Amino acid sequence: MKFFADNFKQQFPLFAQPENRDLVYLDNAATTQKPACVIQAISDFYLHTNANTHRSSHRLARRATEMVEKVRRDAARFLGTASPREIIFTRGATEGLNLLAHSLCSRLSPGDEILLSTAEHHANLVPWQMQAASRGLQLRFVPHTGGIPQFERIAEVLSPRTKIVSVTAGSNALGLRTDLPALRAALSGQDLFWVLDGAQLAAHDRVDVASIGCDFFVCSAHKFYGPTGIGLVFGREELLQELPPWQGGGEMIASVDLLASEYAELPHRFEAGTSSLASIAGLGACMDFLEKQDRVAMAMHEQSLVHALHEKLGQIPGLNLLSRGEHNLGIATFTHPRCAAIDLAQWLDGRDIAVRVGHHCAQPLLRAAGHTATLRASVAAYNSDEDIERFVAAVQEFLAHLEVEDAVPVREVHAPVADGSWSPDDLSSLDVAALRNKKSWQDRYRSLMAWARFVSRKDGIRSPENLVRGCESSAWLVHRCERGVHRFAIDSDSRVVKGLGALLLTLLDGKPSGSVSREQVQEVFDELGLAQQLSESRSNGFRALLERAFELMGA
Ligand code: PLP
Repeated sequence: MKFFADNFKQQFPLFAQPENRDLVYLDNAATTQKPACVIQAISDFYLHTNANTHRSSHRLARRATEMVEKVRRDAARFLGTASPREIIFTRGATEGLNLLAHSLCSRLSPGDEILLSTAEHHANLVPWQMQAASRGLQLRFVPHTGGIPQFERIAEVLSPRTKIVSVTAGSNALGLRTDLPALRAALSGQDLFWVLDGAQLAAHDRVDVASIGCDFFVCSAHKFYGPTGIGLVFGREELLQELPPWQGGGEMIASVDLLASEYAELPHRFEAGTSSLASIAGLGACMDFLEKQDRVAMAMHEQSLVHALHEKLGQIPGLNLLSRGEHNLGIATFTHPRCAAIDLAQWLDGRDIAVRVGHHCAQPLLRAAGHTATLRASVAAYNSDEDIERFVAAVQEFLAHLEVEDAVPVREVHAPVADGSWSPDDLSSLDVAALRNKKSWQDRYRSLMAWARFVSRKDGIRSPENLVRGCESSAWLVHRCERGVHRFAIDSDSRVVKGLGALLLTLLDGKPSGSVSREQVQEVFDELGLAQQLSESRSNGFRALLERAFELMGA
């Protein structure tokens, strides 16, 4: 069946706002946009239902309680279980994993093993690390190549001491789906708890925990068009019955005495305090909304987008695609040797194309693959072929622009010194007035990137003591005073940071103390319109460079 992405998109009011009409939103693995019915349900909750649940005996409290328990029943159906007692509301997948790590590990003995994978989101690593450290447990990892887990080899690392296997159903950094039937077969008959992090999977597939066969499953509503602040934990009832609660407080008790308490029945014993009630209302609307969609046609549409993404990106010379189009949860991740991922993301932002850059909360995976940051584009069902075309065209445009830049020979201004000593770059031909006279921001941005070419690579200064804290990309700044004037040298992986550094040093390098103030430099930055056009973190990065430079000058 054909899926009409345009009709689907029309249900998302954010895209209809005048400032968002041209937006290409490809940051869906981080969070999705919300349909009108979800926004309405949250507002309706506060307009018509707002009261705390369970504890009060008035009309509104009853209504709020009924709403929460109805959404719980719907959530049970949504995840493929018959029993709402197996559904726990949390703030999100992270809280769900913390809950499970705490409760499950309290059943283990020192030396017991928890098996994870190298492709986990930090949310499925750190809670287990914390438990392992405090209880003397061992963390083990599925064999991998370059960070990509080889789940087919899981038997090699299972041992009689493996008590918990907690792995992703699909990587948020690479989009790689885990082969769940194969994993189920490998784990069947083992005396352990199987936890599945379904944060990305639930955004793209109908989930059926019964057929998956896991013991526990976690997800976050905001990844599948629902509100932030609400997530689900599924746990098999006979297992949950045996587990101690995680947090203590109101709602999770049957009775409280001064020295001990009796806990409430499932699932309430795992829900201490007031839940995110409006978000639960939004989650209910979101699940209704998804129920009405043709999920198979939706998934096919997403698959065709992700295939197109990989095919088109794969044709760009030199581009290093870390993800693959097959078995993929809507994610393309890549680097390019010509540019820092952050510079490309900034360029895309200038064209109103939203992507994400960084380690994607999967540092071990990226490190094993030899990267610190990649650019990630992730699709949802409201994306169109045109979105993919605009994105790829903008990537190509940026790279073509850099190619032209790089073809212009730069005057070799000094011999780079590798032993920690350095010489300043010759920035004398850089003209701030000419930069100011550029008509558009895009022209100024291009010029700044051209300026970056005057900043040579200086391996000798790339050391922790020269690193400027507060810059989004690594930047190193050094200084000395020579015959009464201040001399500087800068280096960075990012062209934009180098360009900004060149701008700063044009104003400061070779000047005597007291001849330029912080305010004057900031004024130039503001006059150029950089503060409005650069991301906030980039502007903060410039301020960090500025502060460090004045600190080094003793000003
Ligand atoms: N697990 C995976 C695979 C994720 O992608 C994310 C979020 O990106 C999480 C866990 C954590 O989800 P949340 O931040 O909603 O708690």
